[in-house]
Amino acid sequence: MDKPDVIIIGAGASGLMCAIEAGKRGRRVSVLEHANKPGKKILMSGGGRCNFTNYSVEPENYISRNPHFCKSALRRFSQWDFLGFVQRHHIAFHERLHGQLFCDDSAKDILDALLKECRQYGVTIDLNCRVERLEKQSNGNFLVQTSQGELTSPALVIACGGLSIPKMGATPFGYRVAEQFGIKVWPTRAGLVPFTLQPDDKQRFAPLTGIAVSCRVSNQQQSFKENVLFTHRGLSGPAILQISSYWRPGEALTVDLLPDEDMARLLKDKRTQGSKLKIQNLLGDYLPKRLLQALLEERYLEMIVANCADKDLTVIAASLHSWTIKPNATEGYRTAEVTVGGVDCDAVSSKTMESRQVPGLYFVGEVLDVTGWLGGYNFQWAWSSGWCAGQYV
Ligand SMILES: Cc1cc2nc3c(=O)[nH]c(=O)nc-3n(C[C@H](O)[C@H](O)[C@H](O)COP(=O)(O)OP(=O)(O)OC[C@H]3O[C@@H](n4cnc5c(N)ncnc54)[C@H](O)[C@@H]3O)c2cc1C
Repeated sequence: MDKPDVIIIGAGASGLMCAIEAGKRGRRVSVLEHANKPGKKILMSGGGRCNFTNYSVEPENYISRNPHFCKSALRRFSQWDFLGFVQRHHIAFHERLHGQLFCDDSAKDILDALLKECRQYGVTIDLNCRVERLEKQSNGNFLVQTSQGELTSPALVIACGGLSIPKMGATPFGYRVAEQFGIKVWPTRAGLVPFTLQPDDKQRFAPLTGIAVSCRVSNQQQSFKENVLFTHRGLSGPAILQISSYWRPGEALTVDLLPDEDMARLLKDKRTQGSKLKIQNLLGDYLPKRLLQALLEERYLEMIVANCADKDLTVIAASLHSWTIKPNATEGYRTAEVTVGGVDCDAVSSKTMESRQVPGLYFVGEVLDVTGWLGGYNFQWAWSSGWCAGQYV
C-alpha cells in the first residue's frame, strides 16, 4: 500500500498548486486524477490563452455565502504572487480590458510550468485513476481505494472542482465527500453561463445572431457594463456571463443598450432642432438597425423626430435604456465556466482550508462556495486556496 504524506484528488489548478507547495515543504505528495490528462480546464481556459489572474483582485469580485472567507487566502497568495510564478517561468503575457491577464502564446505554458514544478518537488500524478472508496480510519489516516490500488495518508485534499463542462471530467465527487463527512454543501447552479430565451423572444431575436452591443445589464443585486452578444440560442457575451452568476430562474434582467447616452435628452434636443430624420435613421447611428427593429414598434421607427410627442420619445428612450428581458434558463453546466455554491466555507478554516470537523481533510478551489467573476478571478482563487492548503498539509 502506498503511504504518501498527502493525497490530493484532482490535478487541476488548485490541486497542482497545492501539490507544488506541499512538495516544496518536503512532503511526499500523490495527486489522483480520473481524467487521462492533468489540467484540462487550464488548457481550454480563456479561449486557449488562460486568463490566469487579474491586476485587481478584491473580495467583491467573488460570490460566497461568507463574503469574508476568501480574503485571507487572496491576501496571502495574491495576484502578484502568481504573476511572480508566471515571470519566473518566462511566460509571456498581456493585459486585456479590466486588468485581465492572458498568456501571449498558450494556456499550455501555465500548465507546463505547474507540471515542471510538480516534477521538481517530486509530486506523483496518477492519471486515469478512479477513487472507488474513501474513509477515515481509527488512527486518523485517510484510506483511499482507487482503480489503481489503495493509499493512506494523514492529509487528504479535495481539489476536484465544480460541475461545469462534464465532458472535461467535472464530477460532483467533492460534494459527495463533504456530505460523507457531514459537511454542509450549499446548492449549486451554473455560473458564467449564457442564457436561453423564451420561445417568443428566441424567434424575435434570432435575426440578431452575431450582433454584439456594449450594454449595462442589471438585476436586483448586481450590474455589469460589458458587451452583450446575441446568439442563435439566446444571449451571451461578458455582461451576460457575469450577471448569470447572480441570476435566479424567473428573474427579469434590465438592459441599458446605451449606457453612455441620455437618449431622452438627445431625442428632445434633436426635436427642438427640428430634425427631419426618421427615428430609425437617427438611432441607426447608435445601434444596429436589426436590433432597433426587434425592440421598437414599426410606428416608432417611422416617426419623424420633429413630429414626435413627449410620450413617444419617453417610450423610445425607455425601450433602449431599460429593455427588460426574462431569460428562459441558463445553458447549464454544459457550457458554464463555473459552479456557484458548493462546500460551506464556514465548515473550513480560511487560513488553512482544513475542515473544522474533520482534521486532515482539506477543500480547495471551485469545490468551495467561492465563485469569482469573469476575468481571471476563478483561477486566482484556485491558486490562492491551493497555495494556502499547501502550507499546512
Ligand atoms: C471553458 C472554461 C474556460 C475558463 N476560463 C477561465 C479563465 O480564463 N480564467 C479563470 O479564472 N477561470 C476560468 N475558468 C474557470 C476555471 O477553469 C476554474 O474555476 C478552475 O479550473 C477551478 O480550479 P479547480 O482546481 O478547483 O478545479 P479544476 O481545474 O476543474 O480541476 C479539477 C480536477 O479534478 C478532476 N476530478 C474531478 N472529479 C474527480 C474525481 N472523482 N476523481 C479524480 N479527479 C477528479 C478533474 O478532472 C480536474 O482535473 C474557465 C472554465 C471553463 C469551463
